[in-house]
Amino acid sequence: MASYEKFLYVGIALDPIHVGTGGARIGRVDLTIVRDPITRVPKIPGSSLAGVYRTYVAMAETEARPNRKVDEKDWPYYPHCAGLGQARDKYLGHCGQPDCPVCTVFGFARGKDQAGGFAGLAAFSDAHVLLFPVPTRQGPHWVTCPMALRLVGLEVSGMQGNAVYLENVSNNKLNLGWLFLDVQACAQMQQVKTSLEGLGVYSYIIDCLAILPDRLFIHVVNSNLEVRTSVSINPETGAAEEGALFSYEALPRTTVLVWEVIAKNPKHFKVSGSDVNVTLNGGRQMDAPDKVFEVTKRAHPYLEHLGIGGMGTRGMGRLRVLSASTAPSAASTVNCGETASASSEEQPSTGGGHS
Ligand SMILES: [Zn+2]
Repeated sequence: MASYEKFLYVGIALDPIHVGTGGARIGRVDLTIVRDPITRVPKIPGSSLAGVYRTYVAMAETEARPNRKVDEKDWPYYPHCAGLGQARDKYLGHCGQPDCPVCTVFGFARGKDQAGGFAGLAAFSDAHVLLFPVPTRQGPHWVTCPMALRLVGLEVSGMQGNAVYLENVSNNKLNLGWLFLDVQACAQMQQVKTSLEGLGVYSYIIDCLAILPDRLFIHVVNSNLEVRTSVSINPETGAAEEGALFSYEALPRTTVLVWEVIAKNPKHFKVSGSDVNVTLNGGRQMDAPDKVFEVTKRAHPYLEHLGIGGMGTRGMGRLRVLSASTAPSAASTVNCGETASASSEEQPSTGGGHS
């Protein structure tokens, strides 16, 4: 049996999402969001995702089994198996039990009775921008690039120069925000659209797709983030506090994100010296990677309503998961070059490549 399985999650921002760097920066924006250190494209770190998933799975488990006990003692999954895990005052910390879906899937630092820790059966990647909304004079377009499409198993080639690739070529140029670009047709755009459709991406987005070279994508994303300005209110006067104006940036609403979870095989691990022994809905055992994946999905309704990141009280952070499925094992090739139509019939339509 496989030691692990890889799963792909695609989600859409229902609100702007602000996952902050935790510090202020001198520059255009006071509170910046996390960026990839190499590409400079904003992302949601896997550590943030794992923490939020942990909390929401603990909430779901508490609602399903509100009277949960460990050694005769009340030990509800939420808040105890969520959170940082170190017991303090009334907070009991992570239970670290082999039958706990939260502690086995997300790991724990040190269990009850100070027993040894566990790394967790699910490993979260960072969430990357797959499709990003940009205003143009022809209405909003969602931009992507070869680097982003690679995350969903598409290998795009044949793009040249500083052009924006659309499904149909027009003689006009197109502006993406303030950037004014030549338009080229991508001969195999339909293949990209079909793949995105399969991932649950809405048709109003797929109908306005634009592919950019990686370097222009980075530029367009960073120039079109949402920037909001807020001010602290003095509770005594009810007016703005002096010197308390601050701005913060966010991924705009309808940004589509993609992330991965590696689910390990529970049968290959011991928790506090025992086999993993988690019972799922319907009395089934969590005995394979896809069952670990099933546990993570319990967080999704909460993610859609309670959200991720900061500024939740300012209407930010809700993320709707559009699809969660087995990750593609091999890449499909998409040729956006002009010669594509001549060679396309020789290529396998899907699932080609090395295994
Ligand atoms: Zn636990």
